[in-house]
Amino acid sequence: MIDDNVRASRQTADQRAELQISFEFFPPKTDAMEERFWDSVHKLAPLKPRFVSVTYGAGGTTRERTLRMVASIKNQTGVDAAAHLTCVGASRDEVDAVVRGYQAAGINRIVALRGDPPEGVGQPFTPHPQGYQNAADLVGGLRRLADFDISVSAYPEKHPQSATWAEEIDNLKRKIDAGADRAITQMFFSNGDYLRYLERARAAGITAPIVPGIQPIHNFKQIASFAGRCGTAIPAWLAERFDGLDEEPETHALVASAVAAEQVTELLDEGVTEFHIYTHNRSPLALALGRILGRRPE
Ligand code: FAD
Repeated sequence: MIDDNVRASRQTADQRAELQISFEFFPPKTDAMEERFWDSVHKLAPLKPRFVSVTYGAGGTTRERTLRMVASIKNQTGVDAAAHLTCVGASRDEVDAVVRGYQAAGINRIVALRGDPPEGVGQPFTPHPQGYQNAADLVGGLRRLADFDISVSAYPEKHPQSATWAEEIDNLKRKIDAGADRAITQMFFSNGDYLRYLERARAAGITAPIVPGIQPIHNFKQIASFAGRCGTAIPAWLAERFDGLDEEPETHALVASAVAAEQVTELLDEGVTEFHIYTHNRSPLALALGRILGRRPE
């Protein structure tokens, strides 16, 4: 049994003071989805995240909605908002025009990504003939345009297109050397993968923060299918925990909360002080995680 002293030591006062969280949303497509988006934003903003971010459809499919949501979050809640941006399927001039739109709306944080071709992540990536070649090239372009706070992606299980770990880590290093301030990881469910990734990155001389992206499991089937598409493994123990819970929403939610709590508690034990939470525009599990991380609404 863990006594209270051990439990308290899991999050030291210093760690609590240093702790930062951020939340990720996607731009809603319908009025009903927009209602849920704002409900979640208004419930999570009082936890004082470092920033919240809004994703961007590869190829610019959500360009206007991403801009509108990011600008409105900042105006309505005062929380700093980051706009995601992809460079796939667009010329440099087109991408730079989107960036100027972000600047004009007072947005100073960008999550800079390559994005996937419309056929999916498994298909080979061909840059636009006049476009940025990859995320590292995009980061360099952003740095030339303005003094943005820039986040990039990292993949604790390797990006499906990185043939080796050396390629994976070299790519992250190129993005940081081009001027990114931090990396945020793809979701992962085995903390060992993240910790080994950190070791590899540090051994390669990367000192920038590599923030774990935590995916609370709102719906196991959906998350497992999404994980399959982006190269995240679902460990057998995790599938077993959710087995048979499709029609048991209350038990599913309790298991999901326990799984997410275990994941962040272990990472806290490892000294992690910053977390990025994928919300899928839902607040309950993200709020629970905020509490576990010691955040109360202000
Ligand atoms: P990059 O870092 O450019 O790399 C992708 C792959 O290409 C790597 O394997 C790399 O090694 C390889 N590579 C790079 N340059 C070269 C080169 N010159 N030669 C050979 N290989 C090379 N997608 C969206 O569409 N919208 C979003 O809003 C979005 N947000 C995300 C947020 C986070 C935190 C993460 C982790 C992912 C997000 N994605 C998003 C998904 C992302 O777009 C995909 O994973 C995409 O496949 C890769 O983008 P990247 O920026 O990681 O690419």
